[in-house]
Order: sequence, then C-alpha cells, then structure tokens
Amino acid sequence: MISTNKEFKSDKEKIKEALKLENFICPTRNFNYPCVVCKECREMDLKQYFLENGLIEKTKNSSLISMVFELKDPFDDMLLKRLSNSLAEVAKIVQKVPEPGFTITFFISDALLERVENKQDLVNFIANFKHTFLTETIAAKSAMNKWERSTVKRLVWDMGIR
Ligand SMILES: [Zn+2]
Repeated sequence: MISTNKEFKSDKEKIKEALKLENFICPTRNFNYPCVVCKECREMDLKQYFLENGLIEKTKNSSLISMVFELKDPFDDMLLKRLSNSLAEVAKIVQKVPEPGFTITFFISDALLERVENKQDLVNFIANFKHTFLTETIAAKSAMNKWERSTVKRLVWDMGIR
C-alpha cells in the first residue's frame, strides 16, 4: 500500500507534488477527514517522498511535510514552538507538535489549498522555511538584546545608581 518514489526530483518538485490534492471523502470516516492523519482507509493512496532533510507523506486529500534542522539553543526551541503554535492557530498549516523525530511538520489539506492564491508561494515558503526561521531568530534575538539594554539602563537609573 505504501509506494516510495525513487526517481530523482528536487525538493521543490516533491513539495509541489504533495500539494496536488483532491476533495476526497474518506470512506472510513465518511467525511472529508484528512487521510494522512488517520491512515486507516485503503483508498487513501499513501505515497512517501524523501526530501534532503525530511519526509513527505501524501494521501489523496492531505499531506504531511516533515523536516529536520538544527536548533542552536533553548531560545530557538522556544521561538519555533511559539511560531508553530501561532501558524497552526492562524493558518492551520503547521502541526502544533511535529511528527516524531522531526523539527517541523507542515499539514496540507485540500481545504487549506482552497484558501491558497498561489501554490508556488506556498511551495517556496515550505522549501525555504529553515532559512526563513534562521532570519527570524536573528531578528528576535536583536529585539531581545535591545529590550535588555534599555531595561537595564532604566533599572539602574531607578535604583539611583549614577
Ligand atoms: Zn481515509
């Protein structure tokens, strides 16, 4: 039932493949339930694609795109956790908890794709996420340093130390 795609394709092409979904009513659940989450029905047509540092699991109506990348410190851990939670709540595109062994898991359903204007933007976003996250952590750390410097200055002043 699990077929593995071994032909050579770039990560972006594979991610694009994972976004080719249809409005498939899961016969086991009898509604448009994401088959990639339940993995119970025979008709889901589960396919796996290996990425450079990740794995795609695709079914007819939904896909999981999981990636591994290194987080440098607990601050990065916290930032990713908060970002994942917010992206999950606002756009339902990320799993709050990634698949075991992965750093982040994107969850794509045909319902989500109906809200996507340009699929290529989404493909690029997912493929570049590791770099985007790195850039965002640098911005967060810089904001934090700025806060620290101005707060310390104010507290020292409040203590009457000149
Ligand atoms: Zn199903």
